[in-house]
Amino acid sequence: MKRKLTCPRCNAEVTIPWGWALGVEIVFRCGKCDAAFRTGYKMGAALSALALTASLAAANICVWLFSSFSLILFALLVVPMWLLLSFLLRRRWLTRKARRKERLTQEAARSPKGGRGPAKR
Ligand SMILES: [Zn+2]
Repeated sequence: MKRKLTCPRCNAEVTIPWGWALGVEIVFRCGKCDAAFRTGYKMGAALSALALTASLAAANICVWLFSSFSLILFALLVVPMWLLLSFLLRRRWLTRKARRKERLTQEAARSPKGGRGPAKR
C-alpha cells in the first residue's frame, strides 16, 4: 500500500502513519510545515456503527445457520468482528479522504483564482 502523500500546503512528501493506514483515526502533521491531517469524527463513528450492524447481522445469520448452541460462540465473535470491520471500513475511507484532499489542493494550485478560464502564462 502506497503511504506517500504530497502536503497540500508546502508540497513536501508526507508519509501516512501506520495507525492511519490501518484505520485508527489520529491526527498527523507534515514534518516540514506542520499542516495537520485529520478527518471528521462523525463519519468515523458512522462507519463504526455500520460495522457493528454488519457484524451483528453476520452473527445472527451464523447462529441461524448452525444451531442455537452456537449462540455463545458467535456472541463472543461480535466484538472482534466489529473491530475488524470498522477498521477495514475506516482504513479505506481515511486513505481516500487524504488522497482527495491532496488532489483538490493540486487542482486549486493549478488555477489559483478558481476560475475555469484559460490560464495566462
Ligand atoms: Zn507541509
